[in-house]
Amino acid sequence: MCLNSALNKMFKNIHILNTGFCWARGRILAAGQSWAEQKLPVLCIALEDAQGHITLIDTGYTTRFLQITKYFPEKLYALATAVDIQENQSALRQLQGLGFSAKDVKKIVATHFHADHTGGLLDFPDATFFCSERAWLHTKARSGLNAVRKGILKAQIPADFAKRALLLKNQDFSIKLPNLYPFEKWADIFADGSAFAVMLEGHAAGQIGIFIPLLNQKPVFVVSDACWLSISFQKKAYPSSLVRLFIDDYAALKTNIDKIHALFQNYPELCILPLHCAEAWVKSASF
Ligand SMILES: [Zn+2]
Repeated sequence: MCLNSALNKMFKNIHILNTGFCWARGRILAAGQSWAEQKLPVLCIALEDAQGHITLIDTGYTTRFLQITKYFPEKLYALATAVDIQENQSALRQLQGLGFSAKDVKKIVATHFHADHTGGLLDFPDATFFCSERAWLHTKARSGLNAVRKGILKAQIPADFAKRALLLKNQDFSIKLPNLYPFEKWADIFADGSAFAVMLEGHAAGQIGIFIPLLNQKPVFVVSDACWLSISFQKKAYPSSLVRLFIDDYAALKTNIDKIHALFQNYPELCILPLHCAEAWVKSASF
């Protein structure tokens, strides 16, 4: 690929969208925090390309969450997590405010299928979905209470998801990006060099993170929920072991925080973005 064509594929702009808030106790989120509840943003990412099309990384909350969780078993999710979700904060409404329409959204990455990341999937009927095969198989196999116990609201996921999805298989993670060591196996997620995916398991089965080299801006690594707060990768402040009750694999979670910490130290110009970190959200305002 010649340099010009590579540059043409790069995203030219990034918009960090906050789709609502949830609350969680600080000490659960990261060591060294108080037990007081913290108000966490629920972020998703909109990447704008040279053609004016949008690629979303996750879709955050929409008021659909409030409707779905009125009844059992989905109500258990709402009982476990206090939320603040407003109609005008959905990814779609915010994109419309920026001058885009639902049809401009051509690609959506689902980093994982927890309900605070999938709220807007139904709003973009023209989009192709991208996720790991493992995350999809884990989600597809569950329904009702069995899904809710894993943080998944199946009613938020389009019925034709599988038909519209490109699933990343284990063998797709085969690219080395030396700058991003100690993560060694990356996938060229859109097959054009504009973004790269890496497995970030622990928080949820099959979770992926996305590295985006941006035109004229600092590169971004969206780590989704690999940690909730930036302090976790800055100082290896792990979430409490109580999270074993609801996450997929605590040992893998800690291993990936260690790797993100190493990357944070080795690659200072990289913007590392956990999708619930208020500090990262505020910093991202400088994009
Ligand atoms: Zn999650």
